[in-house]
Amino acid sequence: MNLNFSAQELQFQREVRAFLADNLPAHIIAGTANNGSVFVEKDIALEWQAILVKKGWAVPQWPVEHGGTDWSPAQKYIFSKECYHAGAPMLIPLGLLMLAPVIMAFGSEQQKAEYLPKILHGEHYWCQGYSEPGAGSDLASLKLKAESDGDDYIVNGSKIWTTHAHLADHIFCLVRTDNSGKPQQGISFLLIDMDTPGVTIAPIITMAGDHEVNQVFFENVRVPKSQRIGEENQGWGYAKYLLEFERGGGFSAHRIRHELNNLRQLLADAKADNVAFDACGDMERRAARVEIDLKALEITELRILSSVSGGANPGPESSIMKLSATRLEQEINELSVDVLGYGGFVMNPVPDGNPVRADYRSSVVPRYLNNRAASIFGGSQEIQRNIIAKMVLAL
Ligand SMILES: Cc1cc2nc3c(=O)[nH]c(=O)nc-3n(C[C@H](O)[C@H](O)[C@H](O)COP(=O)(O)OP(=O)(O)OC[C@H]3O[C@@H](n4cnc5c(N)ncnc54)[C@H](O)[C@@H]3O)c2cc1C
Repeated sequence: MNLNFSAQELQFQREVRAFLADNLPAHIIAGTANNGSVFVEKDIALEWQAILVKKGWAVPQWPVEHGGTDWSPAQKYIFSKECYHAGAPMLIPLGLLMLAPVIMAFGSEQQKAEYLPKILHGEHYWCQGYSEPGAGSDLASLKLKAESDGDDYIVNGSKIWTTHAHLADHIFCLVRTDNSGKPQQGISFLLIDMDTPGVTIAPIITMAGDHEVNQVFFENVRVPKSQRIGEENQGWGYAKYLLEFERGGGFSAHRIRHELNNLRQLLADAKADNVAFDACGDMERRAARVEIDLKALEITELRILSSVSGGANPGPESSIMKLSATRLEQEINELSVDVLGYGGFVMNPVPDGNPVRADYRSSVVPRYLNNRAASIFGGSQEIQRNIIAKMVLAL
């Protein structure tokens, strides 16, 4: 694979840099640097999404007919890299990168026309209703019941760990429509308006002190059958398709490189403050280890990118990306906490003439605490290893 960019691609890189310099607002950069959670704040994400939509660059992954771009794999790669390098936030992927590919692949023409433009323009904010109490890794044992009643389903039960359910206006849900066969055979995929009578939300506060996840209850919730994706009882296939995009649809390596750069800055500051800092070089060695593994992840992502751009979906290899990206990010989180020591407990940063860096410092410990969950959400590390063993290595 030739990893050098062509003259045209370098010209595109300059165009992207110029656009970011002119259009990425300072408060969005600061809000991103300050963020200690999985997603940036909804308002920030939607503001940046609107700027990108105006330019036609919000979802390079989508086909042009739905508002995507006709960029080559290299252009998508450059764009993603430049965005993170400039300090832009990741757009919230729940609708844009997780649900939308499912609608494009399996939704009716009416569903495509109804939902895709609203996802693109941020009019619909989605959350994911997969997990239940008693159905996480063993997702196929889910019980949220959808009983047929004429043209509708009546939905009863609950979903748990639902990220941003309290901010979302819609939820895509896996529901049980048949109990007679294997668990995987009786699942359907429903799109539900959160305002439907009978939907209630209870917050779950995490150890980082964040309100990101929730339990969502459904009591006799009436959902039109026209809001089902694809065939009844075939939802398991659509659900797995979505998970490939959740685990490996984007470029984590660029985001992690940005975090590694922040870590290197923390290391440099600590050394400048204290000449004896890390005299035996242990921190430097750990950072170098991350650098090496990150390079390997970058190459893996490029390989997967070229197959996705050829029309394929990410495939079970996306589990490799999820596994490696999580491990590297958590290693950076731990190292950053170790570098800051007690300094990491600064909750109200003291202005030092560099507001972005001060804010970043105060977000290190919340980010460390919050990101412990990355080993669990989107399928735990153990489950990713099982998938790699079976589907990639054929063991
Ligand atoms: C912060 C956060 C956000 C989340 N957001 C969402 C969301 O928006 N929507 C949603 O639907 N879900 C969400 N989840 C739920 C997440 O997908 C589940 O927590 C996850 O799938 C694990 O399920 P569980 O919690 O039931 O743990 P369990 O499945 O009970 O697993 C417990 C432990 O056993 C291990 N284990 C289980 N089975 C096996 C096996 N076969 N082999 C080896 N080890 C195994 C697991 O790795 C884990 O360590 C979120 C979770 C978190 C923490």
